[in-house]
Order: sequence, then structure tokens, then C-alpha cells
Amino acid sequence: MFKNLPVIAIEEHFWDRELAAQLEGAEGRRSQKQLDRLFDIGELRLREMDAHGIEMQVLSHGAPSSQKLDAAISVDLTRRVNDRLAEMIAKHPTRFAAFANLPTAHPEAAARELERAVKDLGFKGAMIHGLTNGLFHDDKRFWCIYEMAETLDVPIYFHPSFPNANVAAAYYEDYAAQYPQVIRAAWGYTIETATQAIRLILSGLFETHSKLKIILGHFGETLPYQLWRIDSALRRPGQAQVDFRGHFTRNFYITTSGHFSTPALVCAMMEMSMDHILFAIDDPFVENHVAFDWLKTLQISDHDMGKLLSGNAKKLLKL
Ligand code: MN
Repeated sequence: MFKNLPVIAIEEHFWDRELAAQLEGAEGRRSQKQLDRLFDIGELRLREMDAHGIEMQVLSHGAPSSQKLDAAISVDLTRRVNDRLAEMIAKHPTRFAAFANLPTAHPEAAARELERAVKDLGFKGAMIHGLTNGLFHDDKRFWCIYEMAETLDVPIYFHPSFPNANVAAAYYEDYAAQYPQVIRAAWGYTIETATQAIRLILSGLFETHSKLKIILGHFGETLPYQLWRIDSALRRPGQAQVDFRGHFTRNFYITTSGHFSTPALVCAMMEMSMDHILFAIDDPFVENHVAFDWLKTLQISDHDMGKLLSGNAKKLLKL
């Protein structure tokens, strides 16, 4: 509890040992402290949740999860990862819930795995990290996943991953050694994930699947701040018609993961409404106390705080 309000954090990561072993160099880039936490869905994690009053974490695999794997291995591997995650959650069903990993390199199998994960394992949606082997997810091949998500009434969470190699080289290479984060959390992640979201809207996806729900972390990856400009530029003459603002404010939900800024919250409240903003931390890549240090400074009503900390999550994820 925080100020007598229950707390649910929805972008909290773990790693599965078999999947992590497939992610080249992933473990080498992480501190022992982070690795201990990524591989723990038990005592250590629960102790740190209790220390901050977090009732529940909605768990997801860390980036790039299964998005950079070939179809040949990702279908069976992803199924095992989801099964193992479900087994661990079953030991603490009131403390953990989950977003599924999807083998997006094989979109039909990914749609089937989403259905299995929600119906058989009780998962609350799915998380997709970055591009799938270079493809943005507005590509029509992926629409069967969205059709399934809409039918099941579960959201898809679009999470960043290391950007496309051509973008990395053209935009960041000369600063990468000096500032390794510029291509990651400082900027590269945001630009690619925002581009992914913009492309989903431009593709007409929400005309076909009007009830589809998408979650973005990091206060919407700059999009609430840019909303007026994007929407008005897309309404200039000589272009196809798209209700960018309508889709972004109706079909999208955003979280506070790794971005604890009051000006960003105020902007998001004004553009998205308090009903579309959910609490997330990004454990263990961001330490829990950073989020709570910020919450203590927030001056919003108890009603809005209740929506932010758990009310919206309970509704969206049916917890
Ligand atoms: Mn994250």
C-alpha cells in the first residue's frame, strides 16, 4: 500500500534461463545485482515488493525476449518460457500476474500462444519488444495477433528493444562509445517505440480492430507531448484520413515505467486522461525506490492516485 492505496506495478521484468542464453551477450551487460533479481520470482523479489508496499507485479520477460529469435526455435521455446513463468506465478498467485512472451517470427503461432497463455495460463495480455527480425509490427502479417488480442480483450504492451542496426549506425554510432545510453533508454528506445506506435495507427489497424488495446511504457514514449503536432500535421491536405488523436487517446494506455516526472504526468493527464495512465517501475532495471521517491512528491487527488496505482490496472487487466 501507498497512502492506504494498493499498488500494482505492470512493467516488471524477469529472465528465463533458457531464453536468456539465446540472447547474445545479454548477461554480460548486466550487473550481478540485476541478474540476481531477473532470475528470481520468489523470496528476493517479494521482500523488495513488501519493503515498498507493492501488492502485485505484472511480470514480463526482459528485452528482446523472443522477438529476435527465428521461427524455427521460438515457437517451442516461447511456450516453455510461458509455462515456467505460469508455474512460478502459481506459487504466489496474489502477488504476481504476467504478460505472455510471443514467438512473433511466426505470427500465427504467436496468436495461438496468446490464446493459450490467456485461456490456459491466466496471463493478462502480451508484451512485444522492439522489431521482429527487422519488421515493424504494423505489417499485416502480425494482424492475426491483434485479432486474437481483441477477441480475448487483453492488451498488447509494446516495449523497446535495441534499435534497428541501420538506425543505430546512422543516428548514434559516433556517440555510442562515449554515451552508451543514448542509443538505449536516453533516446534510441523511445524513438523506435514511438515510431512503432505511430505506424500501428497509420496502418489502419484500429479501423479494423477498434477495441484493440495497446500499452506503451515510459509515459507513452514522448507521444502525449507530441500529440497536437502529429495530429494536426496528419490533417494537412493531400493525405489519407486518419484520426490519430482519437486512436491514441482511446486505444492506447501508457505507464510510468522508468520515467518519474511530474511535468510528463501532467501532460499525459491532459492529453490522455487519468483513466489511461498506469503505474509501472521497470524493476530491476530501475530500482523500486526511485518510483516511490517520486510518488511521495506527487500532489494529485486520492481518486487519481488510486487510478494510477492500481485502479486502472485492475480494470484493464481484469485483476
Ligand atoms: Mn522495461
